[in-house]
Amino acid sequence: MIPYGKQIISQDDIDAVVNILRSPLITQGPAVKAFEDAVAGYCGAKYAAAVNSGTAALHIACLALGIGAGDTVWVSSVSFVASSNCALYCGADVDFVDLEYGTGNMDMDRLEAKLESARIRPKAVIVVHLAGMPADLEKLHELSKKYGFKIIEDACHALGAAYRGEKIGSCRYSDITVFSFHPVKAITTGEGGMAVTNDAELHRRMKLFGTHGITRDAEFMEGETDGGWVYQQLELGYNYRMPDINAALGISQLKNLDEWIRIRNEYADFYFDRLKDIEQIELPGICDDRLCAYHLFVIKVKPDRRRYVYDSLREAGIGANVHYIPIYHQPYYRRTGRYKPLEMTEKYYSRILTIPLCPALKQKDLDYVAEELKRICSKI
Ligand SMILES: *Cc1c(COP(=O)(O)O)cnc(C)c1O
Repeated sequence: MIPYGKQIISQDDIDAVVNILRSPLITQGPAVKAFEDAVAGYCGAKYAAAVNSGTAALHIACLALGIGAGDTVWVSSVSFVASSNCALYCGADVDFVDLEYGTGNMDMDRLEAKLESARIRPKAVIVVHLAGMPADLEKLHELSKKYGFKIIEDACHALGAAYRGEKIGSCRYSDITVFSFHPVKAITTGEGGMAVTNDAELHRRMKLFGTHGITRDAEFMEGETDGGWVYQQLELGYNYRMPDINAALGISQLKNLDEWIRIRNEYADFYFDRLKDIEQIELPGICDDRLCAYHLFVIKVKPDRRRYVYDSLREAGIGANVHYIPIYHQPYYRRTGRYKPLEMTEKYYSRILTIPLCPALKQKDLDYVAEELKRICSKI
C-alpha cells in the first residue's frame, strides 16, 4: 500500500540516537534543550517546550493560558480530535467554528459572525493549519484583539509552512504554537511534540505543567526552604517529558525539514498539473501569501462517488484516507447533544479524500496514483 505519509530515517538519525543511548543521560539530559533551541530558532520564536506528543503540547498550552472549568474554547471543526480534547482535559467547554470550502481552514468571516452573535465568547480559539496550509492568522489576530480571546495555533501539520513570509511558529499572531513529531508529520521523534511562544511566563508555565507542576527553581518557590534538596509542586502537572533519545532524533531530522518541504511542494505541483484536467476532481484551495507544508494533499469528489473512489484506490494499493471526520461527529461529542451540524463543514467532509504525498514516496509512486485516479474517475 502506498501510504499517505511516512517517515524517512537516515543513518545520521540512527547514529544520533545511538549516541544518546551510549551517553550517561537518556532522558532529561542536554538533547532536549538543544532540540527546543533548534525548533525555536527555526521558526523564529523565543521559547520552546518539548513534550512527548503533540497532544501533550496542546494540553500544556491550554493549561498555561489558564483554561479551565467555566471557560469555552472554540476550535476548527475539521481536525484530529486532539485539537479539541485538550480543552476538555482542562474542564472547559468546546465549540466549533465552520470552515472555508477550499482549504478546510477556519473561516474567519464565519468566526466573526459567530463572535458577534455569541452569548458566551471564547477564552481561546484553537486554529488548525489544516493539511499544512496556514489559516488567515492576521484576521484571527484582529478578531482576538476586538473580542479578547487567546490564540493557540495547532500547527501539527504546518512545521515548515509560512504565512506572509514568516515561518509558522513565529507566534506573531498567536500566544502559543504547537507542533507534533509523530512519524506521519513533517519531522519525527517517534512520538513527540513542542509548544513555542514569545512569552516567558507562558513558557515557564508550560514547562511546569509538563513536569508534574514541580519546580526546582528557588525564585518560584513558596515560603522558606529547608535546603538544596527541596523541590516544590506548584500546580497539578503531568509527566509529559520528552526523552533525550527522541530529542536527538528530532535534532537530526530537523536538518532535512526545508528540503522535505520543498519536495512536498514539488509533489503537490505535480498533482495540481496532472489532476487539473480530471473533471470529477476538485483540487485543494491555495493562498498566494502562504507557503503550504503539504502535510496532506486533499482532493474532493462528489459525495455519492467518494466511497467508490476510496475503495478503488485502496484496491489499487493506494492508501487513500479521509482527513478528517468533523470532530463533532464523534460519538463522544455527539452524545453531549450540544453540537449542530455546520453547513460548510458538512459539505466539505462529504467530498474530501487524501491521496498519498510525502518525501518518502518516489516520482513513480506519484505517477501511479495520478494514473489510477484518472482511470477510476473515468468510470464515475
Ligand atoms: C497529529 C496531530 C495532533 C496530535 O499530535 P500527536 O503527536 O499525535 O499527539 C494534534 N492535532 C493535529 C491537527 C494533528 O494532526
